[in-house]
Amino acid sequence: MNSTNVWEGSSQKKIKAIDSFAKDYIKFISEGKTERECCDLAVCMLEDAGYIELGRLIKEGRKLRSGDKIYVTQMNKSIAAFQIGKKPIEEGLNILGAHIDSPRLDIKQNPLYEDGGFALLDTHYYGGVKKYQWVTIPLAIHGVVVKKDGTVVEINIGEDEDDPVFFVSDLLIHLAAKQMDKKASEVIEGEQLDIIIGNMPLKNVSDEDKKSAVKANILKLLKDTYDFEEDDFASAELEVVPAGKAREAGIDRSMILGYGHDDRVCAYPSLRAMMEINNPERTTCCILVDKEEIGSVGATGMRSKFFVNSVAEIINLCVDNYSDILLRRTMANSYMLSSDVNAGFDPTFADKFDKKNTSLLGNGLVFNKFTGARGKSGSNDANAEYIAMIRKILDEDKVVYQTAELGKVDVGGGGTIAYILALYGMNVIDAGVAVLNMHAPWEAISKADLYEAYAGYKSFLAKIGC
Ligand code: MN
Ligand code: MN
Repeated sequence: MNSTNVWEGSSQKKIKAIDSFAKDYIKFISEGKTERECCDLAVCMLEDAGYIELGRLIKEGRKLRSGDKIYVTQMNKSIAAFQIGKKPIEEGLNILGAHIDSPRLDIKQNPLYEDGGFALLDTHYYGGVKKYQWVTIPLAIHGVVVKKDGTVVEINIGEDEDDPVFFVSDLLIHLAAKQMDKKASEVIEGEQLDIIIGNMPLKNVSDEDKKSAVKANILKLLKDTYDFEEDDFASAELEVVPAGKAREAGIDRSMILGYGHDDRVCAYPSLRAMMEINNPERTTCCILVDKEEIGSVGATGMRSKFFVNSVAEIINLCVDNYSDILLRRTMANSYMLSSDVNAGFDPTFADKFDKKNTSLLGNGLVFNKFTGARGKSGSNDANAEYIAMIRKILDEDKVVYQTAELGKVDVGGGGTIAYILALYGMNVIDAGVAVLNMHAPWEAISKADLYEAYAGYKSFLAKIGC
């Protein structure tokens, strides 16, 4: 299949729509830089669109009917939205799934120390990163500090123009002869990714306290500004991310450079598609999960029973006689797009890609029949019959799409959440947006691909299996 360029076939009107959608997305990823922030933004959007929290419906014992809109969150880090279809729920759901966690540096539980007149915070990186990319760039801190009395202190420093930013230092080139000879994986090591957060000592301290006066000053500022103490870092989740907003990229403004496209560039259009399809034939669902970058683990990751439990609750509110077999049928009869990013062709590293089986920025929504590595190992290899169904509806709706693999055979690989829902026996395929510099502090995508993803997701929700 030869893929086609989205821009080439787009009218002025469509280009306007692409631009306007891109603006909304830029705002979303500039405000949502952590899974918690993305989950909160999604709750606001869904409530505005008339979605009701599942717990409330259960409490009220209200039965669900076609057209009803429900959402449920998991520990403020994952969220699932549902709209009940006209067909019985056991005929299955049309599911869009994406993840809202992104690679970053997490602040350790006992992080603060002083050395050489600096106060620093020790970090542990999260997800697959090239560590050398995270030094000498402006960084922001986002997250929560939860105090013993349960008070949650929200932290967001480094995004406003007047905010200070933070940074990881790197060795000056003048003294770096030995460092420059190291392998890239060792140029900056994990324990060197500590962020510098201060350099000013507290005044009027005893000679003995002078050794840690910069740290003392930071603790005083944290107490005065945020009302938490050093011990409270133990129950904090603070994430260090690139500071600043996503931006249009290119003289032609065709791209977006931003932090966390993987995988918010699929999460956002999934959510918008979910909110814009009304009165569907089959029950629609959008799930945005945490922890994909570290193996979909934990109570908020895709492997958590959170999702299937939510489906069970919803079936229970849809029918009079809930049973296990209904849940199993619902899951097995579902169709899913596991929406995650793909490695876009990069001309600077052309030899890493098989050009005929590579996604090109600007050529639309990308389908990966399989991911994995070393002979497709670990991948969900989607069924040909299912791919044919998807081709049919996307062609009918004139959605531009392409098929790809993640790089050349045996060059590397990667995984997504696709295999997890496939365990229930449903059809799943990876579908997403091509990204350049994946997992770097600033990743690039095409506005046109973002829009085709949104269009494709809408077609999928409204039509697949109908
Ligand atoms: Mn991803
Ligand atoms: Mn990733």
